[in-house]
Amino acid sequence: MTQATTTVRDGGRDQDFLAPAARLRGAGIGGLEELTDLQRSERLARMRNGDLGSIHSWELVTAVDGPGTRMTVFLNGCPLRCLYCHNPDTFLMKDGEPVEASELLRRMRRYRGVFRASKGGITLSGGEVLMQPAFAGKLLAGAKKMGIHTCIDTSGFLGANASDEMLDDIDLVLLDVKSGDEETYKKVTGRSLAPTITFGDRLAAKGIEIWARFVLVPDLTDDPENVHNVARIIERWGSVSRVEVLPFHQMGTDKWDALGLRYQLRDTRPPEPELVESTRAIFRSYGFEVH
Ligand code: SF4
Repeated sequence: MTQATTTVRDGGRDQDFLAPAARLRGAGIGGLEELTDLQRSERLARMRNGDLGSIHSWELVTAVDGPGTRMTVFLNGCPLRCLYCHNPDTFLMKDGEPVEASELLRRMRRYRGVFRASKGGITLSGGEVLMQPAFAGKLLAGAKKMGIHTCIDTSGFLGANASDEMLDDIDLVLLDVKSGDEETYKKVTGRSLAPTITFGDRLAAKGIEIWARFVLVPDLTDDPENVHNVARIIERWGSVSRVEVLPFHQMGTDKWDALGLRYQLRDTRPPEPELVESTRAIFRSYGFEVH
């Protein structure tokens, strides 16, 4: 996910939902140690076939994570290590809560009226949704069957994990292009840019709508040349209907500290409004609708 997706959430958090494994909270996933070998292998098999997933949380939001009111589910596990990540507690799959796909689908069914009225739907975010392709696939297929608009928020790094069948169940992809050249991308995420481009090419070829997202961080991603490079990448994809420039905010510091991880952007300030505007202007100059 992008760091800024958690910055403004208009929708209230629905507290009455208790994922099955949340009842085990306290033991958490550490409880796995207490399972017998048979129970453990059964659980792993259920995770592999997608009946069971590992999630951080979910919430109802409006005007973020896609159109309308959305149920956004944050899946645990991410192969990237973005310096600006707001959710380092989603880095590892084992830190999430096991939850049944059927339980989440039941919840989605209950919100169908809200989704219909607001032209919203579901968004699978994270962490990285494509770390758990079987689980994500079940949620997307189930939602689609109920006529719900579906969206994933992804870096595209694990795009190869998305089968064509899964893509058929996706209406919109929020695709984070975290930088425009390999060197900066590596500095920002610790990983390679190429898989994101490959995934975007694939989405565009299938005509799947893309909202491209770029997090603007002073002294890290704000070089106009980097922004132009991002715009040139996005320009290849004919199915991009908007570009979102997300200004960096200091939101995740406490989480990095709590996890004992080194947060390198402690002294970085949010971009000035002029920088946000000039960056948006670069994307606009390529003909994009920019937010
Ligand atoms: S490290 Fe993963 S979860 Fe965090 S911002 Fe990057 S892609 Fe998103």
